[in-house]
Formats: sequence, structure tokens, C-alpha cells
Amino acid sequence: MGGIAGLTRPDLFIERMRIGGEWMAASGGGTVPVEDPATGETIGTVPAGDAADARAAIDAAAAAYGPWRRRTAGERAAILERWHDLILANVADLGRIMTAEQGKPTAEAEGEIRYAATFVKWFAEEGRRIGGYDVPAPTADRRVLALKEPVGVCAAITPWNFPAAMITRKCAPALAAGCTVVVKPSELTPFSAIALVELARQAGVPDGVLNIVTGLPADIGAELTASETVRKISFTGSTRVGALLMEQSAPTLKRLSFELGGNAPFIVFDDADLDMAVAGAMMSKFRNAGQTCVCANRILVQAGIHDRFVERLGAAVRALTVADGRRAGATIGPLINAAATAKVAGHLADALAKGASVAAAADFAHDETRFSRPVLLTGATTDMRLATEETFGPIAPVFRFEEEAEAIAIANATPFGLASYFYTDNLHRAWRVAEALDFGMVGLNTGTVAMEMAPFGGIKQSGLGREGGRAGIEEYLETKAFHWGGL
Ligand code: NAD
Repeated sequence: MGGIAGLTRPDLFIERMRIGGEWMAASGGGTVPVEDPATGETIGTVPAGDAADARAAIDAAAAAYGPWRRRTAGERAAILERWHDLILANVADLGRIMTAEQGKPTAEAEGEIRYAATFVKWFAEEGRRIGGYDVPAPTADRRVLALKEPVGVCAAITPWNFPAAMITRKCAPALAAGCTVVVKPSELTPFSAIALVELARQAGVPDGVLNIVTGLPADIGAELTASETVRKISFTGSTRVGALLMEQSAPTLKRLSFELGGNAPFIVFDDADLDMAVAGAMMSKFRNAGQTCVCANRILVQAGIHDRFVERLGAAVRALTVADGRRAGATIGPLINAAATAKVAGHLADALAKGASVAAAADFAHDETRFSRPVLLTGATTDMRLATEETFGPIAPVFRFEEEAEAIAIANATPFGLASYFYTDNLHRAWRVAEALDFGMVGLNTGTVAMEMAPFGGIKQSGLGREGGRAGIEEYLETKAFHWGGL
């Protein structure tokens, strides 16, 4: 039992955490099993790391910091370029590991690996362009400069829905900036993260620069947040845990970057291109079985296009294939666990009880504790749970609206502010609506907003800071004012 079938490089499947230059068991000796969400079988175990292990990893990162920081930007970039190339050389194996622990279909898993690699490449390049500036001084005998320096030892805490991309989106800019890192991946999907750390080692990332601690989230999190050595926490996950980490980080006043939950509106106006809108809705709603923070949670459709849109989207929903992610042709894999399928079922039942109707559904004959049936709902209203909470599953609720202002009001009526999407061919409306949407990201006539060159992040309770793009490396840099007098 256990293991992952079909790996060309079985050495990438590692049941250990890495601290300093060592692959380690937990100091307490315990392990945590990792399940395949499609079958419930145990794939393997990882060390049940605790506060002592987190402390050892922080110490290793602190010891490695000085030498890593003193490397030239070009040397760090060359190592990151090698890491990028190794990730791409192992797409199939990394994809297999991901599907085994996370469930997403093979094509999507491989897509995520390639996406994860783009951050390594981008930040390898960005690291060479870090630059401060000088400003005219108040007197002739003085110079005033703003220098950019790495923040120091950073911690990265990541979720299960993007087990590879969330690692590289944090670690690549940190390493490029000259920081060292302790990663704590989700206990549900640690093997993708561990494999990436092994490839980083092979690429030449020195011992202690990139550490990974698996195990008990609350214990490790408490240590990472309490530590005075850790200068920054980058977290992606739920708003609940983000708020907790913020509270725990207050006594040491850490820098924080948080990518938290969303409740994305997806608005289709009467003048939208129907083909584009349907394709965008499928991509935004059903990627990763609906388990994405930027996923269309509320589909708002104007009355004049409503019936045509529902008919077309319904046909696309019926064409989805729910299956084990390893099966050829699978488009919707299992959800991450039974709690996830129960939440989705709860949202569906609540919506149906409050008057929504099923307009279309995909074929489904699966274990309902592991898989959820993709469903298109019409007649969704703002009093339903799926209007106010992230569903994180393959339910597409359509809300009908009449006026632009009404759609904007519904869209913005959420404490979250991560992604938003709208479809229109009207130029005036395009700018007006883009400005009116209270979100960190707006997609016009597209269902995708995540890519390495663009700033990704939220406002309101969706988070702090940005990842990716030029902004992504700034999160790992401090600005030091250097005043030089007496010239
Ligand atoms: P989660 O908050 O339960 O867990 C995220 C990480 O935090 C995991 O590594 C977990 O082990 C860890 N964690 C849990 N309790 C902790 C504690 N007390 N101290 C320290 N760490 C702790 O979230 P999840 O269920 O893994 O991920 C889903 C959530 O993530 C959704 O809300 C989704 O919207 C959000 N998300 C946001 C983005 C974004 O970029 N904004 C991207 C992906 C996911």
C-alpha cells in the first residue's frame, strides 16, 4: 500500500521534511498520513513536525541568511533558472504527485506545474532588477539614498488547492530577493511541496535557504508567528486562519502578506459576447472542481441574455466528466475531502430550499463523500448561503438582474474583495464597471486573472499585499534610507 504509481523519478516522492541540509523525521517521531482524495487510500506519511521542528527550521534559515544575502543577484538568478528548468523537466512526475494528493485531473495538475514554474522564471529575472533610488539632498555635502534590502527569514504557509503554485509564488520572490524561507505546506498536500524543495536542492539552492516543515499546523504556526527571527509571514488560505496569524504576529510586528478567501462575482451584461462569456464562466467556475479562491462564486446575468446564457452554459456543464483525475478525459476530479463535499451539498440544499432550480447537471455516479456533481442553478438570490460564502465546489448559481447599478451593488455586497469578472462589448460600460468593482482583480471578457507578470491579491477581507508581477518581490524587500553627510 502507499506510494504513487508510474513515477519516472520515484526519488521525488519523499516522506521527510527538510531542515538545513537534512531530510528529517519529526523530532517527536510521529507521522501524519496523506490520503488520495479520489480513493481514500493512504499515499504515504509525512513527519508530524511540531514547534521544536519549526524552531530548528527557523534556526537553519537564520544561519543560511547571511551567505545567501551576500550572493550576487545574478548568482541567485542562475540557481532559480535551474530550478525552473528542473520543474519543467519533471512536469509529468510532479503532476502525478499532485493528482494523487489533491485530486485535480492530470492535465490540470500538469498545467499547474507549468504555471508554478513561471513564477520561478519571472522572479529569477525580477531579482536582477531590484533597485533603490537616490533623491536630491537638502545640502551640497549630503547624499540621500533609498536602498533595497531583503526582509530576512520568511515563513510561507500554503493551502491545498494549488499545492505547487502557492509554493513558488512565495518562495521564488523570497529567494530572488535574498531572503531565506521556512515553508509549511498544507497537511493535505505536502508531497508536491516537498518534491519542489528537492528540485530546488538539485538546482543548487544552498542548505538552509529553503526549509520545509510538515505536520501540526497550529503548533508550527504558533512558533513561526512568535519567533523574533522570522520577519515576515506570507500566507495563503482561509480568512479565519489569516486573522489568527495576524493576531499571533502582532507582538513581533511582522510583515504580512495574506491571500485569503474570495466571493467572486461573474457578471454577464446583455451586450456580452455569448461564446466568450460561456467559455470564461466554465474556466472560472469549474477549474479545480470549483476549489479556487478566484472562482466565480456568483454568476450575475442580465435579463436580456439570461435564457440564452443559461442554455449554453447548461450544455457545457452537462459535458463535464466527473472522474478520478487519472482517468483519461476527466474534467472534474474529487473534492479535497468529505468536509468539502458536505459544505457543497449544504449550499445546494439551502439554495433549492430557498427557491433555486437545477437548470443542468453533469452525469454523476460517484461516492458523494468524495465527489460533487457539477450543477447549474437558476433563480439564485442573495439570501442563499452560496451568495455570502465561498462554495468551493462545482455549483454554478445564476442570479438574474435588470440594471447595471443593481449588478454592481450585488457584486460589491460582500466583505471579500479578491477577483471579479464581467463581460460586455460596450466600451463606456467597460471602464465604468471596472472602476466600480471593489476587488483587487477585475477580468473584462476573460475568466482568468492569475499569471506571473500581474499583481495578484485582494482588498477588504481577502488579504494584504500582492503576489506576482513587479509588486511580488517588493513584499520581500525593505527600504533602508542611507543618509551620507560631511562630503
Ligand atoms: P486553511 O486556512 O485551512 O489552511 C491554509 C494553511 O494554513 C494550511 O497550510 C494549514 O495547515 C494552515 N493552518 C491552518 N491552521 C493554522 C494555524 N492555526 N496556524 C498556522 N497555520 C495554520 O485554508 P485551506 O482550506 O487550505 O485553503 C482554502 C482557502 O484558501 C480558501 O478560503 C481559499 O479561498 C483560500 N485561498 C486563497 C488564495 C488567494 O490567493 N487569495 C489562493 C488559494 C486559496
